[in-house]
Amino acid sequence: MGQAVKSIKGVHDVLPDDVHLWHFLETVVREVTAGYGYREIRTPILEKTELFKRSIGDVTDIVEKEMYSFEDRNGDQLSLRPENTASCVRAAIQHGMLSNQQMHRIWYLGPQFRRENPQRGRYRQFWQVGAEVYGIPGPFIEAELILLSAKLWQRLGLAESVSLQVNSLGSNEDRDNYRSVLVEYLNDHISDLDEDSQRRLQTNPLRVLDTKNPAMAEVVGNAPSVLEHLCEESKTHFEGLQASLKQCGVPYEINTRLVRGLDYYSHTVFEWVTDQLGAQGTVCAGGRYDGLTEQLGANPTPGVGWALGVERLLALISDTGNAPPPPSPDVYLVLAGDEAVVAGMALAEDIRRARPDLQVITNCAGASMKSQFKRADKSNAAVALIIGEGEISDGTVSLKLLREQTQQQTVPRAQLLDVLQGIFG
Ligand code: ATP
Ligand code: MG
Repeated sequence: MGQAVKSIKGVHDVLPDDVHLWHFLETVVREVTAGYGYREIRTPILEKTELFKRSIGDVTDIVEKEMYSFEDRNGDQLSLRPENTASCVRAAIQHGMLSNQQMHRIWYLGPQFRRENPQRGRYRQFWQVGAEVYGIPGPFIEAELILLSAKLWQRLGLAESVSLQVNSLGSNEDRDNYRSVLVEYLNDHISDLDEDSQRRLQTNPLRVLDTKNPAMAEVVGNAPSVLEHLCEESKTHFEGLQASLKQCGVPYEINTRLVRGLDYYSHTVFEWVTDQLGAQGTVCAGGRYDGLTEQLGANPTPGVGWALGVERLLALISDTGNAPPPPSPDVYLVLAGDEAVVAGMALAEDIRRARPDLQVITNCAGASMKSQFKRADKSNAAVALIIGEGEISDGTVSLKLLREQTQQQTVPRAQLLDVLQGIFG
């Protein structure tokens, strides 16, 4: 036997014992997005590398060193998507969704790929849920997107575990002005910058503010604030967002260091953070990206959205004790002998036809009655149905409630569905 093949680093299986947590999150996401009139979009995992170079930006960590890119057999440069916003915008342009001032509210769920250093909350394949809106300028839609995310936290039992930080990068012009002021400041403090930040200063200076190095806290903390460089219009926009959040009862904090890693943001940016996950504390992040459609070759269209990290959120749900219990089967059929197995499988089909809501397991694997009862017990099923020679010849089924101290009872087959109705409603 050769050595067993294992999954690759930073890429994980979701095992049957845990999948109910994913379903819980997905169900809440589907219900909440529907409640705000958002519709799902599914874009491919594989895209042209150019899409991400043009949208995320050549000098971001993602495009510089984190993408899984390869040359296809015909010479095309392809990449596994590192995020989903660029693909959504690409799809919207491609399918004419942005013409004639259309408005769209969409959401997605899917795996993303980044070649990062794996650690808790940071993986190479990770899942995101995201919401995006096209065609609506102004702060109110930003507030709506934030409200939608806040509703998710409520429904997931996490409202007390996360808090909202907001900032504004202003218009492109504001951002450019601020960039020169920041570069000047950082150049004056160049000896305090770590190697990474010295490099970013040359390529993408705003990202220096995004540093996760505690040794840089002071120099970053004293940097000039972007908010002091907003024009009147940008200030009004940001005030509009804050007024909406206040009116809708969403507490927030302004964090002037919040710039977001990707190149395409302007005006409002925000993050939902938690102090319960250690270094990987951002569970959801987003902002406005009005320039992105133009970067991708279409007419300028307002765009705004956010993405949340599913694994981080599920870790938070588990850590805070808000995880729902795994579902267990309702009925386990204990079957003595081959004839009983066949009769039991037919009975299980009858039950499934009449009661598609019940989970019914037949013991197809033989073994003594004692072992089969052990399996039934371990499966967490509520009810065991027993068929042996006696039940076959009498046209009955024996029934035992596995979670209660009651006697086994014998039920005529014709009455079984009524008895199950009495138990399961
Ligand atoms: P970080 O600053 O933590 O690297 P980011 O700014 O790169 O995050 P985004 O690209 O905005 O993250 O993605 C949105 C969310 O997706 C993040 O807030 C996080 O919850 C999640 N996320 C991002 N990268 C990873 C990863 N490698 N593994 C797990 N979750 C991730
Ligand atoms: Mg990152």
